[in-house]
Amino acid sequence: MNKNVYVFAEQREGVIQPVALELLGKARDLADVLGEKVVAILAGYQIADKANELIAYGADDVIVVDAPELKDYITEQYTQAVYTVINEMNPNVVLFGANTIGRDLAPRLSARLEKGLTADCTKLEISDGSDPKLEAKKLMMTRPAFGGNLMATIVAAKEGVQMATVRPGVMQKKDKDESRKGNVISYNVTFDPSKFAVKLLETVKADKGLVDITEAKILVSGGRGVGCKEGFDKLTALAQVLDAEVSSSRAMVDAGIMPHDRQVGQTGKTVRPNLYFAMGISGAIQHLAGMEESDLIIAVNKDKFAPIFNVADMGIVGDVNKIVPMLTDRLQKELKK
Ligand SMILES: Cc1cc2nc3c(=O)[nH]c(=O)nc-3n(C[C@H](O)[C@H](O)[C@H](O)COP(=O)(O)OP(=O)(O)OC[C@H]3O[C@@H](n4cnc5c(N)ncnc54)[C@H](O)[C@@H]3O)c2cc1C
Repeated sequence: MNKNVYVFAEQREGVIQPVALELLGKARDLADVLGEKVVAILAGYQIADKANELIAYGADDVIVVDAPELKDYITEQYTQAVYTVINEMNPNVVLFGANTIGRDLAPRLSARLEKGLTADCTKLEISDGSDPKLEAKKLMMTRPAFGGNLMATIVAAKEGVQMATVRPGVMQKKDKDESRKGNVISYNVTFDPSKFAVKLLETVKADKGLVDITEAKILVSGGRGVGCKEGFDKLTALAQVLDAEVSSSRAMVDAGIMPHDRQVGQTGKTVRPNLYFAMGISGAIQHLAGMEESDLIIAVNKDKFAPIFNVADMGIVGDVNKIVPMLTDRLQKELKK
């Protein structure tokens, strides 16, 4: 009998990643429909004290695998640890973040467990039995297909664990409730070091001094209409006034003007800021997929028929080269008052 909804609770240097909390929020909803528990798998070294944070965000149980082998993320070590847990516990569902670690780990586990995995899900639901072709209580995993032109809902064909990855920013975490009670279970894994083919020699951190765009409260995003580095310098000036981050459409990443980690959209990141400026961005479906959940969207585009205006809360029809400096100037004066 498979049971419970599991979340791989990713931590880096002992810091629980926001996506883990978002997944716990979704897992809570799924588990409540199923009448099951939410279980977090927390793997790492000297990280047991983080378990309570996971309980506060919705976990009923936290399985802690604490081992020196798991100090840094290395595929084989983490695969062995999480595989052992899943293989023994036989969960109903396991959710992973679709970031670099989750995208590396989840397919390994899928292959080792010989079970399916649906990547980059945007919606997760439990079937209610109303569809005669689909039994009740199955996980329905929805994700964009065919370049984002349609949404496909996928159901695991095999019996056993159902696994999905979800991008950061797609699901919403629950409010933190420090009064929640849960069980912290210490779990020992016997590793097979003969399979450790990769050795970590050195960790070099990217020194960017930038906030990840998935965590920014305000994003000033530029597209082909901004066009060049000088145009993005203007967006940076506006972002500085607003304490915001600069992001972009894929067109500007493909043109080599912006790095991929700043790309919003289906093949970039999903963002949900309080305020999203779309500057010279047409509003292609693949871009919208990554930002349409933003609280407030302000678009500037010289084409009044640009599709971005269909999702924008406010729109300015005009030239970004003129409007961005005017906006920067005006906001600077207003915010100084
Ligand atoms: C499988 C797949 C995945 C994809 N993934 C992504 C993704 O993750 N993210 C993403 O963004 N795209 C993605 N794309 C690409 C997407 O389809 C679009 O090509 C891309 O979003 C277009 O970027 P853009 O809006 O900057 O450029 P364009 O579509 O060229 O639009 C530029 C806009 O700027 C306006 N403009 C021009 N000059 C000015 C000016 N001076 N002032 C004001 N406005 C001006 C124009 O009117 C136009 O609306 C993907 C495509 C595919 C097929």
